[in-house]
Amino acid sequence: MSSSGFGYKFDAHINSLQMSVPSVDLLRQTKSVCPYCLKTLPAAIYQKNGKVYMHKRCPQHGEFDIYLWPDAARYISYGQLDFPAVPRKAQTRINQGCPQDCGLCPAHKRGITLPEIEVTWRCNLACPVCFMFDDQVPEDPTIPEIIRMYESIQKHDGYDLPIQITGGEPTVRRDLDEIIGWGRRLGFCAVELNTNGLVIGKDRDYLKRLKDSGLTNIYLQFDGLDEKSTIALRGRNLLAEKHQPLKIAGRRGYRSCSRWLSLKGSMIMNWAI
Ligand code: SF4
Ligand SMILES: [Zn+2]
Repeated sequence: MSSSGFGYKFDAHINSLQMSVPSVDLLRQTKSVCPYCLKTLPAAIYQKNGKVYMHKRCPQHGEFDIYLWPDAARYISYGQLDFPAVPRKAQTRINQGCPQDCGLCPAHKRGITLPEIEVTWRCNLACPVCFMFDDQVPEDPTIPEIIRMYESIQKHDGYDLPIQITGGEPTVRRDLDEIIGWGRRLGFCAVELNTNGLVIGKDRDYLKRLKDSGLTNIYLQFDGLDEKSTIALRGRNLLAEKHQPLKIAGRRGYRSCSRWLSLKGSMIMNWAI
């Protein structure tokens, strides 16, 4: 790694980073960015008390130690796995290098496995945990713009992919069935929907309309089996509303399976139909 391109001596910076992380604990070196000025910085990945951290230092904004992973042994073993590179057509050129001009450039060696299309930034909830929610919500992309997104994915990554429709909350769009239909007509093997389920739960026929338009799966934000987790995550008790789409799906005979994520004793659940 040369010293050019970062505006200061990169090699010298690596050496001083190594001095601040005992060599026995150093797992590897990498690059990262300052969380304040986004300057590219050398970084050291190290272990401490069996956990994995990243250390980096910005000349202007100081030192950062970031927790990365709970199990150093497992982190090391995963790092030895050899994932095959998957050829794909690059969408951008390498200009300043990773991560400054990220955008699926030729340095990107893994193909896309589950592309997501954000069809809106609006939502019918305002969850306290949400990073999408903002007063300045941009306009939804139009159907021709979404078709261009589908076609761009096909051009660079091929047809044999499932697409995930996401947002914001996609069901606030009245033309969602048309969006799904375009994905299937253009040849994608599956079109999935990420949703909080509220609209599906209020209209007995809506789920069937989505399925008839070509929808293959739903990732339903379910939130758990008691009201505590919905209050914590959504800001109010949505337990009954969250069960409603599952009842509708069950009555129609659609299959479902659950994915569980447990956080500090309270059960947060996602349920894919
Ligand atoms: S449902 Fe999702 S997109 Fe909507 S406010 Fe909650 S977290 Fe954000
Ligand atoms: Zn900085």
